[in-house]
Amino acid sequence: MKAEYLYKQPKTLLNKGTGFLSGYSHSLNPYTGCSFGCSYCYVRQMPVSTFRGLEWGSWVDIKQGAAEIFRKELRKAKVKGPVTIFMSSSTDPYQPIEYKERITRSLLEVIVEEPPDFLFVQTRSPLVARDIDLLLRLGDQVRVSMTVETDLERIRKHFSPSAPPIGARLKTLQALADAGVPTQATIAPMLPSSEALPALLRKCVDRVCVDDYFMGDGSGGKRTRSLGISTLYKQLGLEEWYDPSAYRIVYERLKTVFEEDQIYVSQQGFEP
Ligand code: SF4
Repeated sequence: MKAEYLYKQPKTLLNKGTGFLSGYSHSLNPYTGCSFGCSYCYVRQMPVSTFRGLEWGSWVDIKQGAAEIFRKELRKAKVKGPVTIFMSSSTDPYQPIEYKERITRSLLEVIVEEPPDFLFVQTRSPLVARDIDLLLRLGDQVRVSMTVETDLERIRKHFSPSAPPIGARLKTLQALADAGVPTQATIAPMLPSSEALPALLRKCVDRVCVDDYFMGDGSGGKRTRSLGISTLYKQLGLEEWYDPSAYRIVYERLKTVFEEDQIYVSQQGFEP
């Protein structure tokens, strides 16, 4: 989908960590909107999207001058107490426009100069590897969590056709791990996958998180139900995967190659 881009001058960058992210002092979104436009994205149902009145995925606001505002906020926050940051809760910090705009990179540069206690980077984009130099400077105060909802490209294309291919994400995880950046593979939201998924992940990571719509959308699955996602499962004849117990299928498969203490479920896997 082609997205429309607008430059906006943000007033604030740091938001309080709440709900699913209550383990964090703050969340940080370099953009508003997300051109990956995943069908299951719970942000579709949030005011930021519904007030806009345009299809989710078709617009992105670029937060111009973000780094300087962020620097001031971060300094103030650090005076008040420990600062743990989740980037990002309602956008992908490494969506395609970041190649050109480098807003996320500018925020990371501030983070390296004024390190918070912890930074969690959530993405599904290979572009995160561009910033390995900065991520490494954060030592073990950072974790990059790469979304790998399935190992099956046809499934990925059905649910999130504009998102990066799975193979590229696995290669990126490998590059991050080889460089020494703490990583995690995040099967979230868990989509139908094959028995090969755990072994593919095991080659690149020693920590994995599995989450689904029912535990992980912050509303017991209500938000996802209102998105009509079950239809996408019916189209594939895979309704059995749209079920609160379906995550056990993947969990049991993961246990064949990961130790139990390497497997995190839902919110646990996103904690600082
Ligand atoms: S990448 Fe994340 S924020 Fe962007 S549309 Fe997909 S789920 Fe939503």
